[in-house]
Amino acid sequence: MAVRFFSADLHIHSCLSPCAELDMTPWRIMRKASEAGLDIVAIADHNSCENLEAAARAASKAGVSLVPAMEITSSEEVHVLALFETLEAALRMQESVYRELDSFYRGPQGREKGDRQPPPFGQVIVNEDDEVLGFSRRPLSGATGIRLSGLVAAIHSLGGVAIASHADRGSFSVTSQLGFIPADLEFDALEVCGQRQKPFSLQGQPGLRCSDAHRLEDIGGKRTGFLLKEASLKEIALALKAADGRKAVFD
Ligand SMILES: [Zn+2]
Ligand SMILES: [Zn+2]
Repeated sequence: MAVRFFSADLHIHSCLSPCAELDMTPWRIMRKASEAGLDIVAIADHNSCENLEAAARAASKAGVSLVPAMEITSSEEVHVLALFETLEAALRMQESVYRELDSFYRGPQGREKGDRQPPPFGQVIVNEDDEVLGFSRRPLSGATGIRLSGLVAAIHSLGGVAIASHADRGSFSVTSQLGFIPADLEFDALEVCGQRQKPFSLQGQPGLRCSDAHRLEDIGGKRTGFLLKEASLKEIALALKAADGRKAVFD
């Protein structure tokens, strides 16, 4: 099978993310992605993937390929974009993330600190027809207790791809929180958002551009082209290693 070109936006938030607009429902995102000429999208909500099932159905209706994903916050407050082959793998990652988030609510005796209050805004769980199913009451924008090195390893152990989110940004990035990118951290790629004035070095690692969209109009505004044999995470992982004619087209 020969390689062909795919246009991808691998970092989009749905209305489940506390900071995203409420009209970021899976169906609207997929319709917008299709209009924007995207072939592959990843919905990556903060510390949760509860809208992914709806996103998968909406994506197949819109003719777009979905990569199941999550943007996980490490204990150092570094955002990591975790991409998975299957929804099942993403849900298994979500189990560990929820265990960590839930420990915030428990006192020394393991009792709940109080009733979980509804979130102050957003965190909406919807179906593929934009109907509201409920609200997440977990602190989704908070840091988990998972250390960065353990997080990258956990993503890899589920067959996932770990990308340093907005690695050149001045907040919630590996460079803003640690000051540098430790050589022993095995990121598969760095997402570059261009928000820093000074030049940013990829240090020989593959780069990605994604929109990190929180609003419909930003979807596909930044994107990465890929030469792949088919639209799958396996192929994207091979492209990040420039294997056998595949590649990520990053400029
Ligand atoms: Zn982020
Ligand atoms: Zn994000």
